[in-house]
Amino acid sequence: MKPASPVWHPFTQHALQPEAISIARGEGAWLETVDGRRIFDAISSWWVVTHGHRHPHIVRAIKDQTDRLDQVIFAGFTHEPAERLARQLVAITPRGLDYVFFSDSGSTSVEVALKMALGFWRNRGERRSRILALEGAYHGDTIGGMSVGERGVFNAPYDPLLFDVERIPFPSEGREQATLDTITMACRNTGVAALIVEPLILGAGGMLIYPAWILAEMKRICEAHGVLFIADEVMTGWGRTGTLFACEQADVTPDIACYSKGLTGGSLPLAVTLCRADIFDAHYSTDRSKTFFHSSSYTANPIACAAACANLEIWQSEPVMERIAAVTRAQTSGLDRFREDRRFINVRQIGTIAALDVVADDAGYLAGIGPRLYDGFLSRGLLVRPLGNTIYLMPPYCSTPHELDSVFDAIDEIADGIG
Ligand SMILES: *Cc1c(COP(=O)(O)O)cnc(C)c1O
Repeated sequence: MKPASPVWHPFTQHALQPEAISIARGEGAWLETVDGRRIFDAISSWWVVTHGHRHPHIVRAIKDQTDRLDQVIFAGFTHEPAERLARQLVAITPRGLDYVFFSDSGSTSVEVALKMALGFWRNRGERRSRILALEGAYHGDTIGGMSVGERGVFNAPYDPLLFDVERIPFPSEGREQATLDTITMACRNTGVAALIVEPLILGAGGMLIYPAWILAEMKRICEAHGVLFIADEVMTGWGRTGTLFACEQADVTPDIACYSKGLTGGSLPLAVTLCRADIFDAHYSTDRSKTFFHSSSYTANPIACAAACANLEIWQSEPVMERIAAVTRAQTSGLDRFREDRRFINVRQIGTIAALDVVADDAGYLAGIGPRLYDGFLSRGLLVRPLGNTIYLMPPYCSTPHELDSVFDAIDEIADGIG
C-alpha cells in the first residue's frame, strides 16, 4: 500500500518502510512521538544534535533573533550574528584558517570547498583540477559531494554525471604506507588540485577509524607537493572525536575546512567553509571574473547564525568537554563486553563514537540485517540506525551512562535474535 502522506523521505524505501514515526517533541537526548512514546536518540538525529534537543540557551537565542532580523541578502549586506560567528570560528578552528564562507548544509560546504580549490588554481593561472579522495568516503549527496564520495548503490543512477577523482586506498591497519605512497604518487602528477578527507573517521562509509599520524602525514605530503588539503569535518567537528575538531589530534591546519552538523548544536541548518588567506587572496582582485561565484538564497541566515553563536557560548560556559569525556568513558565500558564476543567483530571507538560489526553472511549497506536491527532497537524505544551490519552509537553529550548502558543491553539482546 502506498503511503497516505505526500512526503518523500530521505534515504527511505517507502515500499518497505510505509510509515514514518511522527515526532511531536524533543528534549535532551529524547524524542517523543505524537502518541506519547519516548525514544532515546542514540544517533543525535543523524549526527547533528550535540548538547541535546532544545538546549534552552539556543532556543532563547533563536527567539531573540527572530524579534530583530529574520533574513537579509548576504551579498553587499552583513549582520552582527554572522560577523560575530565568523570571528569566533576563526579564533577556535586550527590557526591559519582566516576566512569564512557560509552555506546551509554539509554537502554545500563541500561544494564550496571544491569550488574554492578549483578557483584558487585557475585564478593563479595553474592548470590543476583533479581531486584526490579516500575510498569509502562520504561527502554529501550533491553532484560534487557524490563525485568525491565512494561510488556504489547510493549514486549508481547518477554516475554518468559524476566527475572522475583519484581514489586513495583507506589506511586500514597494516596498509597505512600503501595509502601514503599512493598519495605521494598521485601528487607527483601534474594537475592535482586538492585532496579531500574526513579526518580520523569515515562516517557514512562505515565508521572506519584511522590514526592521527596518518592524517598528519597526508597533510605533509600534500603540502610538499603544493596540493590543497581539504578537511571535511562536517561530522567529526564539534567534539565528536574527543577534541573540538578532529584535525587538532594531528596538529594539522587544513587549507580548507568544512563544518556543519553540530555548528548550531543541531538546531538549524547552517554550514561554513573556512580557508587560508591565500585562497581568499587568489579571488581578491579588481578583475570581476575572479570573484568567488557561489551563493545560496539563505547564505548566513541570521537566525541560524544566532543559534550557532549560542552554541559557541555553550562550549565556553558549560563543561562540554567533561560531558564528552563522560560519554566517551561510558562508550568504552559499554563496548568492553563485546570485545571477546564472537557475534561481533571490529569493536571500535573514537571519542564519543562507538561502533561494532555484527557477524553476518550478508554484509554491506543493503544487508537485510540492517532493517532488522533498526526495528529491534526501535521496539525498545531506541533510535539506532545501523549502516548495514555496522551498529554505531553517536549520542548527544547530555546522555547519561545509564541511558547508554540500556543501548548496550539492547545490542546484546538483539544480536541473539539476528544472525
Ligand atoms: C553528513 C555529512 C555530509 C553532508 O552533510 P549534509 O548536511 O547532510 O548535506 C558531508 N560530509 C560528511 C563527512 C558528513 O558526515
